Amino acid sequence: MEFIEIKEGLARILVPKAERIYDAPVFYNPVMALNRDISVLVLKILQPEKVLDALSATGIRGIRYALETPAQEIWLNDISDEAYGLIKENLKKNLEGELYEEGDRAYFWGEKLAVANKGDANRLMAENFRYFDFLDLDPFGSPIEFLDAALRSVKRKGVLGITATDTGVLCGAYRQACRRKYLAEPIRGELCHEAGLRILIGAVVRYAAKYDLGVEVLLAYYRDHYFRAFLRLRSGARKADGSLNQLGYLWQRENGEFFYETAFLPQNRGKVYGPMWLGPLKDQGFVEDVLKGAGESELAHKKTLKFLEVLREELDVPFHYDTHAIARRNGLELRKVKAVVEELKNRGYAATRTHFSPTAVKTDAPFNAVLEALKGS
Ligand code: SAM
Repeated sequence: MEFIEIKEGLARILVPKAERIYDAPVFYNPVMALNRDISVLVLKILQPEKVLDALSATGIRGIRYALETPAQEIWLNDISDEAYGLIKENLKKNLEGELYEEGDRAYFWGEKLAVANKGDANRLMAENFRYFDFLDLDPFGSPIEFLDAALRSVKRKGVLGITATDTGVLCGAYRQACRRKYLAEPIRGELCHEAGLRILIGAVVRYAAKYDLGVEVLLAYYRDHYFRAFLRLRSGARKADGSLNQLGYLWQRENGEFFYETAFLPQNRGKVYGPMWLGPLKDQGFVEDVLKGAGESELAHKKTLKFLEVLREELDVPFHYDTHAIARRNGLELRKVKAVVEELKNRGYAATRTHFSPTAVKTDAPFNAVLEALKGS
């Protein structure tokens, strides 16, 4: 393996040299620096003590948590031999401390404790029941095969950070796979990304409920063809019921008008999509705190701050109107998104842009008012 050294945040790590990222024996994707930046900022606010980076690859994520957040005990795990070797190398490069190795595990005792582990993430999580304050799942594709073990390994009031890169599944390109993995009906078209994110959260809510755990969304977003959600668990049957009560279904007319309903089973609605999460996608105070921290942090990706600002400003109501899709569906001229937002605001509605699409608007206005605003009349 040939390596190059890269800097990301406060970390300097070795990554394999490769023509394309998926050819490398150990995975490192520079585009995901934004995902890691936001995760670091989130951990700075949450201040978890024990953290697991369950699918670690080069170790960049766990190493940044060790260097840039108050976490005291950081575990970095990967099933691959090459990844495990590289995690140890990268820990040595970045952390002071004594190394103690035993079988497939290496302990770095220094100012903090870092533990490199080689093994199946599900096995490691099963062996560490209710141990971690923050647990990060950043897999290739869907996190679903790790979800049950993660919900048992994280503390009952802990936080999960979940990435899903199987957008083709969650956004309806592979409908049958979405049924198999998430037991949900995905939607195609302009609402697919938001609905995909909500299906992912909905699956976590259902999985968590059987342990009498509720789920609160701290922050969830879609970006660069992946979904990311920070979910705080809440302990108790009533909390679980409260979260389940925020699951429901979406349906849409040909003209683009959409409807949603929190329901265990929808009745007489024709073609519906879901079940999915219909609750908030952020805790506004939490996002403000994350942004405050961003000002004082060494961010690796030039767009992290701007993206967080968009998330802060975004109106948190389910779904959005894509101006292009609505214009096409209703034979209307295109209008600038900014003008549509202004028009809606002038009419007394709340309206903002959304990170889900550069051409879409989130609003509390009824569909007819959106059509009027699009017409500019
Ligand atoms: N978190 C990393 C980052 O931020 O750069 C990227 C992780 S990469 C997308 C997914 C990793 O999961 C790969 O290194 C792969 O070897 C590892 N992996 C796949 N299945 C696993 C399993 N069952 N247990 C542990 N690691 C696994």
